[in-house]
Amino acid sequence: MTGWFRDQASSATIKTTPVDRLLAITRKSLRFRAANFCDWCHRFGPSRKRFFPAAIPRKFALLLVALILPLLAQGNTATGHAPQPVKKNCAPGVVLKVSAGVAAQGSLLLAEITGLDDRQKVKAEWDGRDVPLWPESQPARTLHAMIGVDLEKSPGSYQWKISWTAADGSSAACGVPITVRTGKFATERLTVEKQYVQPDPEQQKRAEEDQKKMRAIYDTVTPEVLWKGKFRLPLKGEIAGKNFGRRRVLNGEARSPHAGIDFPAAAGTPVYAAQAGRVALAEDLYYSGNTVVIDHGFGIYTLYAHLSEIAVHSGDTVAALAEIGKVGATGRVTGPHLHWGLTIDHARVNGLQIVQKEP
Ligand SMILES: [Zn+2]
Repeated sequence: MTGWFRDQASSATIKTTPVDRLLAITRKSLRFRAANFCDWCHRFGPSRKRFFPAAIPRKFALLLVALILPLLAQGNTATGHAPQPVKKNCAPGVVLKVSAGVAAQGSLLLAEITGLDDRQKVKAEWDGRDVPLWPESQPARTLHAMIGVDLEKSPGSYQWKISWTAADGSSAACGVPITVRTGKFATERLTVEKQYVQPDPEQQKRAEEDQKKMRAIYDTVTPEVLWKGKFRLPLKGEIAGKNFGRRRVLNGEARSPHAGIDFPAAAGTPVYAAQAGRVALAEDLYYSGNTVVIDHGFGIYTLYAHLSEIAVHSGDTVAALAEIGKVGATGRVTGPHLHWGLTIDHARVNGLQIVQKEP
């Protein structure tokens, strides 16, 4: 188990409310004269962030940054953010490994069980649910799992538990402790007139139906490894994603955090399947617009939102990097971009982590 990725991709904290973003959203709301606010997919676009009160002269502010940054960098090295894998000998010949014992909210861990096979009715549990396990090859002596730490999972100590039937027919259990720590997510505080953030009853109904549909999809665990090899980013070229996990406080009320990554891209840019799988959904949803969800098997799903065009149908089998649509600005957004989500057994995790490691 080498090459484990970092449990938390670097993220920045925005310290103040960007006033221009608020103005942009309000203007947009006025233009649409409807609730066009999206709880989970926030407005994307270049925006100036005011890190310092206007009263502080720009030169002084830059000097301050130059002085503070090296100190912060030193602090990071001192606390050491490299993930420490954990290993436990559960029984003679039975070993449990997890890629990190400490994980930030929204991160992804890989787990491995050696010495048992699926004939021994091995079960794994995380977050009160069974974690699907897949064998490396047949006949398998190594079982694999992905553990998604949901971006809203309360920080604290947890156990990743497994149980199995021993050779003599008795049941056995074992666990590895996992500490969940708070993710470093930006928080955005906005004050917007109520009429611009409240969908009308019809829109509300539609959004709820969409949600039900999504829940049914994520409740389905396809017991097949449909992916092959590494997961890829859904756009070609040099791309940088942002906004994962961003918290939004609207009129003093905490809303759902941003559950995906926003990639800036021009409308019409081709969007590719991150890996092979089966299309679980390909339709227009209220918040996310033209949306494609791909089932990769074993509870792993990727989502592509706000597409201008969808090139696949529900039920289609897609290959890795197959074109599934084009970047657009459909749904409750103000500009073209690709919103990309990754869900692992219901947990909303940072998609950038799955492209760094072959599951
Ligand atoms: Zn988004």
